[in-house]
Amino acid sequence: MTGWQELGDGVFRRRYESLDLNVGAVIGAGGVLIVDTRASHRQARELVRELKLLTDLPVRRVVNTHFHWDHCWGNALFGDAEIWGHRRCREVLVERGEDVKAAMIDQSRPAQAEEFGEVQIVPPDHLLTVSRSIDIGDRLVHLRHHGRGHTDSDITVTVADCDVTFAGDLLEQGAPPSFGDSFPLDWPETLDGLLEIATGTIVPGHGDVVDRAFATTQRDQIAEMASMAREAHANGASAEEVDVAHAPFPEPYARLALRRAISQLG
Ligand SMILES: [Zn+2]
Repeated sequence: MTGWQELGDGVFRRRYESLDLNVGAVIGAGGVLIVDTRASHRQARELVRELKLLTDLPVRRVVNTHFHWDHCWGNALFGDAEIWGHRRCREVLVERGEDVKAAMIDQSRPAQAEEFGEVQIVPPDHLLTVSRSIDIGDRLVHLRHHGRGHTDSDITVTVADCDVTFAGDLLEQGAPPSFGDSFPLDWPETLDGLLEIATGTIVPGHGDVVDRAFATTQRDQIAEMASMAREAHANGASAEEVDVAHAPFPEPYARLALRRAISQLG
């Protein structure tokens, strides 16, 4: 038992108890590509050790699915690799990374604060805005930005030859989607784009592996939040005034989704 689950030939995911986060590893003849690097150097060091259980090949490429700390604060441990991400992933990490880190240190217990204090934020240095295919030796990995959704920097990672797609937090299993930096009005259409290309196994940013049926349901739930927001906006109601008793997500999530969507409507 290594903790890794093989989803296709040489395509693995590791689901960590901490934050229920998923990390991906794709083994190519030219080295390993990993998807996300966890939340701290300490966690990334553990990841580095566990990658050795899969292969002796070096990590040549890292993909950050988006700018959130829990997905990319381990980047520094992969200094020899190309770090890929959306252009906005880099911009946000450069502009807001240190502020987010200070806030995380501030609100954490001492041991955790120390762990965050050690983090050196390393933004992606290989950037894309729409799509890019990477040859990792004997196989192609497609990176795609389908539009704004969970953030404005989300990219999916698809291993073409075995039909596995890493979706980042565009999809979340085991907990509702996270709306804090989201664009709920765009998100359903972005998931339509994902559904066009993700025809097999889908690995969400957190939780268990899912399929297209799950992705379609979550897409429809987010679309429902968007239409609730449009209706509230048309009636001049604020996010706090909407009746969320029958919303597809629990109240705090639903309110946040409504606030973000209504602010998109201006
Ligand atoms: Zn996220």
